[in-house]
Amino acid sequence: MKYISTRGDATPRGFCDILLEGLAPDGGLYLPASYPSIDDATLTRWRGLRYAELAFEILSLYIDDIPAADLRRLCEATYTERTFGSRQITPLKPLDEGVFLQALSNGPTLAFKDMAMQLLGNLFEYELDRRGQTLNILGATSGDTGSAAEYAMRGKKGVRVFMLSPHGRMSPFQQAQMFSLTDANIHNLCIEGVFDDCQDIVKAVSSDLDFKRRHRIGTVNSINWARLLAQVVYYFAGYLQATTNNAQKVSFAVPSGNFGNICAGHVARCMGLPIDRLVLATNENKVLDEFFRSGRYRVRASAETFETSSPSMDISKASNFERFVFDLLNRDAARTADLFGPQLAKQGGFTLTAAEFAPAAQFGFVSGSSTHADRVATIRDTWQRLGVMIDTHTADGLKVARQHLRPGVPMLVLETALPAKFADTIHEALGRAPERPAALQGIEQLPRRFTVLPVDAVAVKRYIETHLN
Ligand SMILES: *Cc1c(COP(=O)(O)O)cnc(C)c1O
Repeated sequence: MKYISTRGDATPRGFCDILLEGLAPDGGLYLPASYPSIDDATLTRWRGLRYAELAFEILSLYIDDIPAADLRRLCEATYTERTFGSRQITPLKPLDEGVFLQALSNGPTLAFKDMAMQLLGNLFEYELDRRGQTLNILGATSGDTGSAAEYAMRGKKGVRVFMLSPHGRMSPFQQAQMFSLTDANIHNLCIEGVFDDCQDIVKAVSSDLDFKRRHRIGTVNSINWARLLAQVVYYFAGYLQATTNNAQKVSFAVPSGNFGNICAGHVARCMGLPIDRLVLATNENKVLDEFFRSGRYRVRASAETFETSSPSMDISKASNFERFVFDLLNRDAARTADLFGPQLAKQGGFTLTAAEFAPAAQFGFVSGSSTHADRVATIRDTWQRLGVMIDTHTADGLKVARQHLRPGVPMLVLETALPAKFADTIHEALGRAPERPAALQGIEQLPRRFTVLPVDAVAVKRYIETHLN
């Protein structure tokens, strides 16, 4: 399998060539040259597989530059009951008739990002060892991504993590989760500013190409194809649990931000997984809901981006969206490059023609959005009526899912985080504290390891240079 860029660079690259990279050199995102299709017999054969075996089968279709035995071992090491809390890894929980939660948040940081990041940690360690290289991951986080990356990379050979976060601004739980890691290769840098300051520093350091090359600086952001590929697996796992034969269809409802998660659903559907609808749910930051209603994509400025009670969906633009638009435009790279290059830069967005937008429905997409009041009501209803406690992001998904139910088609709502991470809104909705998994009881009392630095890229560079050994 070779990978190409959404903006036309067709230099054939293998999976391991793009594994450690971010954007393609032309500024586009990597996608496989084509999606392998799964026939009926294969899907039937996969019904009996454990999650790690299923992951190996799907990954093998996209990765031909890692020997099969090694890839199988990496999948087996990643998707264990010990790390993800159950034998099924992503079990279904029934809610109402025909509505299920698919649990994706029982990994180490209680959010679905662990599903992909844990695999990425093992792939990075494997590939760096094979090349005799090291990598220094530099990132900025306001919560979820940073902790998922740290828990995936902790103790990995050849990898160091330098994670910037706004000093004192993450939730107490998130701070405890990240700062209690004491592994020598994990560095928490608390910047005396806001999240945007952290991101600006990452940009400043990364645009110093000499520094970047000299110190092998890399990222683990959500545009990484390997992360997206890992997420394709749980769409198959969810489908196989919800059905008994391949004539049945299911729909998925996906709390969305950067369009990574639902893009994996799109890939699964393109491979032939019988998905009826992909229901995209947003919060008040409805850039994507607006697109799927109108064909118009308008990115927001930071000042126009709301801080909501489902913060991991508070996006101003969706960094993986270009992948879907490329497919929607029947892979017209010139048009994609024009839309996401000049048009986005000059006009802050674009509007597709009616003919360009029409296939969105054939790809199964529908959408909706919700408000803080909707989240609170949905959390309360789900707890009082069904005895199930859900988090704010999953509540966005469930609320929008209910608007798109069809008789006879199971609806799988992806549970993207556990309520333990969002105690304030749970208190507001239920008048009590959220449940917390036993392993995380008392993490606020653990010793913490972090360094406070000013809003200054030079200070961050100096820190990195003095902590490379
Ligand atoms: C990251 C995240 C999302 C958004 O996922 P995307 O892949 O960016 O669309 C939704 N919910 C939670 C809890 C997240 O951490």
